[in-house]
Amino acid sequence: MVSNVISPLHETADRTYQTALSQFDRAAHYLVLTDGLMEYLKWPKRELTVNFPARLDDGTVQIFTGFRVHHNTVLGPSKGGMRYSPHVNLDEIRALAMWMTWKCALVNLPYGGAKGGVIIEPKAHSKQEMEAVTRRFTSEILLFIGPQIDIPAPDMGTNAQTMAWMMDTYSMTLGYSVPAIVTGKPLNIGGSLGREEATGRGVIVCMLEALRQHGITRNPKDISVVIQGFGNVGANAAKRAHDLGFKVVAVSDVTGGYYNPKGLNIPEMVSFEAKSPQKSLETYRGSGVERITNQELLTLPCDVLIPAALEGQLTGDNADRVQAALIVEGANGPTTPEADDIFRERGITVVPDILANAGGVTVSYFEWVQGLQEFFWDEDEVYRRLERILVRAYDEVSHVMEDHNVDMRTAAQITAINRVAEATLTRGFYP
Ligand code: NAD
Repeated sequence: MVSNVISPLHETADRTYQTALSQFDRAAHYLVLTDGLMEYLKWPKRELTVNFPARLDDGTVQIFTGFRVHHNTVLGPSKGGMRYSPHVNLDEIRALAMWMTWKCALVNLPYGGAKGGVIIEPKAHSKQEMEAVTRRFTSEILLFIGPQIDIPAPDMGTNAQTMAWMMDTYSMTLGYSVPAIVTGKPLNIGGSLGREEATGRGVIVCMLEALRQHGITRNPKDISVVIQGFGNVGANAAKRAHDLGFKVVAVSDVTGGYYNPKGLNIPEMVSFEAKSPQKSLETYRGSGVERITNQELLTLPCDVLIPAALEGQLTGDNADRVQAALIVEGANGPTTPEADDIFRERGITVVPDILANAGGVTVSYFEWVQGLQEFFWDEDEVYRRLERILVRAYDEVSHVMEDHNVDMRTAAQITAINRVAEATLTRGFYP
């Protein structure tokens, strides 16, 4: 029975989903799991596709397609971001939902993994149109989400405002306010201090651990950092690295890269981007700053490379030209399995996404807890708890690496899959 379904999952998967499935297979090799349990952990639990109308500003109606996937709910309600992008597809959402399962398990959060998205170019729509799309999408998936069922959060192309519209639509339907339905909300409706910065900050916590473990203890001003992506994750990682005195030599967004080997003025770039009408760095002209492509950025000489934009960036085609000593994954799935192999051979450490960018979901968890308790913490408390959780997870992964003599990604996946597998066996298979 079970073996009949093994190959179709792999054979038909798109590239991102192939990456997630291959990573799972690599880790599962080190775990003593039955075939049945392995298949159960691999497959998404539920998937919902919705096609829905939204009225545009000119009065016409456009049909949009959205998805929500619950990968696994053994450890608790599912949790994961909502992505708005023209490239969203069901396989990508399946991969991202699966990574959420492992990420939550790795940092010991009482959540399963989910992800969702809408096929849309947010920059091509007005604020009113985005609100109409978000409210109708929320309404279409209403039965699929809930504070004890599945809790959305921001991801690429969505933000705190998107979460506010989702929360309001859900609350209006139920007739009372339900702040714990989403995380990543604005502060004035129950968001958590530190949530906006959490993913980028967590990336830098992991970078500091990795530098320490690799004996790279030079003055931060002599340690160069390159960051792909200047959105929530990339810009906040750049700000934190800059604040700690590191030399951020290059950053990029969808319009290309910006490079100054002497170090960029990150606060100036952050405020430039925020004020620019297109919310991009496109017209930024800082002194000594050279324009480069996103591909050139990935292979610049540097100590640390932080891919923080999108998946599939470090591949078999460019991994042998990467010059960084350490890669800390801000984005989900930026490295393909072929690139992982090359990095391992070349002795380049990759701090994997499910650990390095887990700061976001960790503070989302804090936000959910605060919302359920209606009791809010100060920023220091949030950051202190965040750091403790990430450092502990980093240590656990390091021990598993040593025990199994594997790379860090495989060690992180072994740790996480094992946790979900054990919980599954403890709960047993219903009925
Ligand atoms: P975002 O939409 O805020 O920013 C994305 C950034 O990537 C933008 O600067 C955009 O211009 C840039 N970009 C888009 N296409 C690009 C391309 N082809 N080349 C280079 N840059 C490009 O998104 P985000 O929330 O920062 O998410 C970035 C990544 O981090 C995604 O993989 C996401 O799944 C992951 N992530 C986000 C969070 C979170 O809390 N936001 C948490 C964990 C993981």
